[in-house]
Amino acid sequence: MNRRTKIIASIGPTSTSDAVLKDMIEAGMDVARINLSHGTVDDGLEVFHRIRSVSESLNKNVGIMADLPGPKVRIGKLTESVELEPNAEILLSPDDGPSTGERFTVDYSGLLTDVRVGDRLAIGDGSIIIQVSDHAGDALKARVLYGGTVQGSPGLHIPSDRLKLSTPTPHDLKLLDAFVEAGVDMVAISFVRSAHDIRRVGTEPAPRGPLIVAKIETRAAVDNLDGIIAASGAVMVARGDLGAECSIEELPHLQKDIIARCIALGRPAITATQMLESMITAPSPTRAEASDVANAVFDGTSAVMLSAETAIGRDPARVVSTMATIAERADENFDYAGWAHQIKRDRLSEPQSVDAAVTDVMTMATWRAASEMGVKAILCISRSGFTVRAIARFRPEAKIIGFSPELRTVRQLSMSWGATPVKIDRISDNEVAVGDAMRMARDEGHIRSGDIVAVLGGSTATIGATDTLRMARCP
Ligand code: PEP
Repeated sequence: MNRRTKIIASIGPTSTSDAVLKDMIEAGMDVARINLSHGTVDDGLEVFHRIRSVSESLNKNVGIMADLPGPKVRIGKLTESVELEPNAEILLSPDDGPSTGERFTVDYSGLLTDVRVGDRLAIGDGSIIIQVSDHAGDALKARVLYGGTVQGSPGLHIPSDRLKLSTPTPHDLKLLDAFVEAGVDMVAISFVRSAHDIRRVGTEPAPRGPLIVAKIETRAAVDNLDGIIAASGAVMVARGDLGAECSIEELPHLQKDIIARCIALGRPAITATQMLESMITAPSPTRAEASDVANAVFDGTSAVMLSAETAIGRDPARVVSTMATIAERADENFDYAGWAHQIKRDRLSEPQSVDAAVTDVMTMATWRAASEMGVKAILCISRSGFTVRAIARFRPEAKIIGFSPELRTVRQLSMSWGATPVKIDRISDNEVAVGDAMRMARDEGHIRSGDIVAVLGGSTATIGATDTLRMARCP
């Protein structure tokens, strides 16, 4: 079996060279993520063009995701690292200057009014926790609950219901303009709290614009999940910040629930953060990390994401190939039949529009026909990728080949579970399109003459409903 779960890898200082990018693509990177929390817009654009040129030289349609920083609060730069001991007291002051070991500056002007005594704040990746104990003039006093080493300019996680900052920020919108202009495929929005935050992004709907990925990392986003999923093109379970926002024992259950609700609506779901964290320095992952990747696959994730492992890790290509091997093995043991029945139950009980109901019954029929006849492939003819995502949510065992005349759709499908995207010149009328798709799939080696396939698509030029299924024998 070929791998069906997709891999997203963050690009950073150890992975920006042409040689490393090439190795990562060959190792299985489907989507490259540019984390715009670091570096300038020009640095990000340079990386963007480099990824495009390396993937084109390899004839691969690697998707590129720009991840907007959102209203991230940071501690002012420390000139040297500081060891925070449990029970030690520190001061936090709203200021843009550098920090010292005793007084951390924080780039949030509302710190003294919005943060309250008793609030727990997480520093960096969340392992250092401090608790606000008192007001001290122009600063807040905080006690260290869980200590550790603080260096550089780490993030300070303030509970999102305290923050008066909205997302996307004005800076995000500037970055968005630059990357939309460059032709980015997907844009991730940080610290989303409601569907309104997604609507404020204001880009053209995909594929004319990028696929919008809502990062679920606040308590408010969990509470408003259905609206956010409906307004977005995909969702990311951003476990780093989400883990600081909710209790840690809740995180695995939130992951399962977010993925299930997202896939049922035909949106790809990404599981992110610390998946192979030890491989930042180690040549192989811990047993727990290997299980984490496999369990995300069993939860139904469309893609698994690497962050620091490939951005600053010692051997980014090795991390990608390790993740590819674990995900491919987990794909083999996925409960395909159980998953499809669950989606059927969820979708049939959901009140919905006529277009959505037509898509649901047609994709259910396709899944059933493909399973009962054991077809080799489901060929989807799709302008926007909608049909491909709609059938992929059933997790059919047959290959899914997504044909689209839109290059951006082809690249956006790089994140869709199980989909092999193929660029075609145009969508002809139904009869011709079915024949063309079968010949192309055969010539590219996905199917053979005589194989029975399902061909799925929309019968009109409009985007929004999948309404045509043909069962055909490949010439
Ligand atoms: C996360 O919080 O898990 C995440 C993916 O976001 P970021 O890397 O921007 O912190």
